[in-house]
Amino acid sequence: MERTFIKDLAEHVGESVLIKGWVSVRRDQGKMVFFDFRDMTGTVQGLVTPGSAAITTAKETNRESVVAVTATVQARPEKNAQPGKTNGTIELLIEAIEILSPAAVVPFEVNEDTSGIGEETRLAHRYLDLRSERMQRNIRLRSELVRRCREYLFGEMFTEIETPLLTESTPEGSRDFVVPSRLHPGKFYALPQSPQQYKQLLMVGGFERYFQIARAIRDEDLRADRGFEHTQIDIEMSFVTQEDVMNTVEAMVTQAVEAMGYTVKEKPFPRFTYVEAMEKFGADKFDLRTEEDKQNGVLAYAWVHRFPFFEKTPEGGWTFTHNPFSMPIPEHIGQLLEKKDVGEILTTQYDLVCNGYEAGGGSIRAHKPEILRAVYETMGYSAEETEERIGHMLKAFEFGVPPHGGIALGVERLIMNLTGETQLREVQAFPMTRGGQTSVMKAPKELTGEQLAELGIQIKPKPAS
Ligand code: ASP
Repeated sequence: MERTFIKDLAEHVGESVLIKGWVSVRRDQGKMVFFDFRDMTGTVQGLVTPGSAAITTAKETNRESVVAVTATVQARPEKNAQPGKTNGTIELLIEAIEILSPAAVVPFEVNEDTSGIGEETRLAHRYLDLRSERMQRNIRLRSELVRRCREYLFGEMFTEIETPLLTESTPEGSRDFVVPSRLHPGKFYALPQSPQQYKQLLMVGGFERYFQIARAIRDEDLRADRGFEHTQIDIEMSFVTQEDVMNTVEAMVTQAVEAMGYTVKEKPFPRFTYVEAMEKFGADKFDLRTEEDKQNGVLAYAWVHRFPFFEKTPEGGWTFTHNPFSMPIPEHIGQLLEKKDVGEILTTQYDLVCNGYEAGGGSIRAHKPEILRAVYETMGYSAEETEERIGHMLKAFEFGVPPHGGIALGVERLIMNLTGETQLREVQAFPMTRGGQTSVMKAPKELTGEQLAELGIQIKPKPAS
C-alpha cells in the first residue's frame, strides 16, 4: 500500500491507509491504547481496540519511535471530536503497527516548547530538538523565505553563483577562520567573512546580476544574535545606483514577507541618515514598532544611509566603518583622494534595519582603482601592503569594470524578525553553543600527530598564566 500523508487523511474516511511517522504520544489504558502520530505534514490520533492483533506491538511502541501504521480512517465519536483542529474529527482504527525504528527514552520532552531546556542538552541532541513544533516551524519558515527571495531574484534576471570557501581574507570587521594547507605547509586559507571580493570579480566577469545564498564565517564574539557562521542573501549588481539596489531589495523583501502573510509597517521603507538615526534613536539600528505592532507581528523595515566611511582606531589611525570596497558619496570622492577631513567623508553604505536589528547592509563599490587605493592609503597601508591585500582587485579593475554595488541580508536576522525569536540558534538547524562547540559533534577537536605532521604544524603548550 502507498503511504498517505497525515494531512490528507480526512479525504480517506472509511478507507484503509498506511501512514509513516513518529509516535508523539502513547496512552495505554489497559485494554485500549491511544496514540498521537505525526509526520512532516501533521498529527493524527489513533487507537488500538481490545482484541486487535496490534495490541501487543502497541504496548511495546515507545514514544518517538518511528512506525508504519496500517489503519482504517473513521469519524471520531461526536463527544471526542475537536472540529476546529486538523484531523480533529477523524481518528485511525489501527490494524497493524510496524516499528521501523524503536526510540530510547528521550532526554527531554519534544512535544513541548524546548526553549527552556539547557543549551548543552538541546544542542547535543539537536536532532530531537528539531522534532519540536517550534523548531520545525522556524526552519521551514527559513526555507520558505529563502525560496521566495530566490524566485524573486530569478524573475529579475539574476544568476545564482557559488564562490569559494577556501580563499583569501576578505575583511568585514572580524577575525578570519583559517585552514592550514597540506600542499603548502605553513600557509593558510581563510574562510570567507563574505563573498565580497568574488562577487565584485563576477561583475568584472560580466554577470551583471549575481546572487548567492552564501555562508559568511566570522571569528567574532558570540552573542545572542551572532554566531561564527551565518547565511546571507548576497547580491551584487552592475550599472546601478544606490537607489536601484535599495529598490530591488525592498521589492524582494516586501514581496516575500507579504506572500507569507506578514504586514510591513511602512512602504516604501522610511529612510534615515546616520546622523538622523543617532539623533532620534541614539543608535543605527532601532525599532519603529508600537506596542500594538509588536503584538501583531508587524515588520518595521527602515534604511539607514550616509554613514561615515572611516572611524578612528585605538592607535589613532583610520579604519573603515563598514566596507573598505565602498565608494564614498559622489560629493566626497575628491575629499578621499586628497585625504582631507577624513572623519567627515561619507560612504554610499546603506543598512536595512528591522524591528531593532540590522538585517543587512551594502554599498556602491569603488570600481576605480585610484579610489580603492586611496581608501587603503587612508587606512595607513603602504603601496606594497595595498598591493599584497588587494592587488588582484586593482588589477581586475584595469580591464573594464562596470560601476556596481550590492548588499548582503542576514538570513537568520530576517527569520528572527519573522518569528520574534531573539536567539540566532533558534533559527539555525545546527548552531554552535555559546562556548563555540558544534551541535551534536564535538568540534573543535585536536588533530592527530600524523595530521599535524602532514600540515607541518607544531602545537605549542599554552603558556602558564
Ligand atoms: N559584504 C557585504 C556587502 O555586500 C556586507 C556584509 O557582508 O555584511 O556589502
